[in-house]
Amino acid sequence: MPLIQTPIVENFQLHVVLFQTNDDLQHLGFSKEVAERIEEADSSRSIYRFFSASDAMPNKDHLDASTECIAVRLEEDDEKNRLKGFHVVQELLRDKMQAVFIESNLDASADYAFLEGFSLSCHKPQRLGNSKSSLANWTVGYRGKVSNEALEALDILCESNFIARDLVNLPQNFLNPTTYGERVRELGSELGFEVKLHDKAAIESMKMGGVLAVNRGSIEPPVFIEMHYCSSNSKNKKPIVLVGKGVTYDTGGLSLKPTKNSMDFMKADMAGSAAVVGALCALARQKADCYVIGLVAATDNRPGGDAYAPGDVITMMDGTTVEVLNTDAEGRLTLADALHFAKQFDPKLVVDLATLTGSAVAALGGEAAALMTSCDQEITKTLMKSANAVDERLVEFPLWACYGTSLKSDIADQKNVGSREAGLIIAGKFLEKYIDYPWMHIDIAGPSFNHQIKNYRGKGGSGYGVRLLLDFLKSWG
Ligand SMILES: [Zn+2]
Repeated sequence: MPLIQTPIVENFQLHVVLFQTNDDLQHLGFSKEVAERIEEADSSRSIYRFFSASDAMPNKDHLDASTECIAVRLEEDDEKNRLKGFHVVQELLRDKMQAVFIESNLDASADYAFLEGFSLSCHKPQRLGNSKSSLANWTVGYRGKVSNEALEALDILCESNFIARDLVNLPQNFLNPTTYGERVRELGSELGFEVKLHDKAAIESMKMGGVLAVNRGSIEPPVFIEMHYCSSNSKNKKPIVLVGKGVTYDTGGLSLKPTKNSMDFMKADMAGSAAVVGALCALARQKADCYVIGLVAATDNRPGGDAYAPGDVITMMDGTTVEVLNTDAEGRLTLADALHFAKQFDPKLVVDLATLTGSAVAALGGEAAALMTSCDQEITKTLMKSANAVDERLVEFPLWACYGTSLKSDIADQKNVGSREAGLIIAGKFLEKYIDYPWMHIDIAGPSFNHQIKNYRGKGGSGYGVRLLLDFLKSWG
């Protein structure tokens, strides 16, 4: 059932009023005096709270003294309005309220952003084992200009973002390549996209040398996950392929990571693939007019007895060789095979999302992902516009030839790591060798995981990429 319903909620505990001007407030039932008081209050305050709605809005006889009321001033900026949605959810959580009614006479777009921030803040973190869920079931009513259709689309968007968050948050002892593949198959049959799982034998017969090398130290076999969604009215004849890094756990391999603030959250090293799965779920539920394929090479990276070692030379699926100098630069090896695999579909565009480099985090923190692309300006502009619209921001980095020189190897076609400086671009240069189609590479190492709750993106997996991909596929393709 969608979180936000249009019928009026009975016995709600909190009445939320969205406004921009004094007139809006009076129109919604505030007395002139109260409206003026709110207007005069410091405009930097995002919400105004009254402990009795019937005092604040005496003209409304369905409100009683025990109902509380919050007035929220919305702005022109969608992101500010999403953040206000988050703040209202914090009030609800703090006071353990469960039923809320939101009323507005503003334009649909301002309300929508507020409701989006509100809904995205209502993610119930999945608790494992015998733990009980920490969030109660809420009843949320809304009266305003956002249509039922838009509310339904918003619900699909949020649920799909939550699917990605939940996948990221599952520890490796709950999500390995096999259980990951099974979960995606369940989602596919439930929501309407096709899922093909290639097991280790199939991966061996396809000679995916990158995936197999990374997997060698593990006791869990790899799984290559292929997802297909094609609408009969698809706007694009050639598919758009989404590739996600799916390293279900990254110890670094023999180039072992330290535990603190490093290996301890490496369950999140499949966040790129979780975004791809989330996007496929949403497209299938929306019955979107497009043809999209999702690819994930799922494996973990461990230092077992047979693990690949620094100094090894491996042969990739495309037949080229790589000198592995750091086994912790494993994501690019798995992605390279997936990118090569994508060629058989003659794709219109390939977008990969990957928690690829610490260098991307050093450059941008958690505030944005790094984009590198071989596409023309027009597609890039469309993607950037989506990134700004949904506030899953991107900063473009160049793929200049000079950045590729440090990948030269004396004994193989390239090395898997180059110089330390500009490591995020060098990773992009490595991947570029495996494409022959328009391509966008998005390094999401920063924004894919939040160590603290700061806003509606939650704590843990943020689901970064789902909203970006959906907005982009809607506006292009
Ligand atoms: Zn790694």
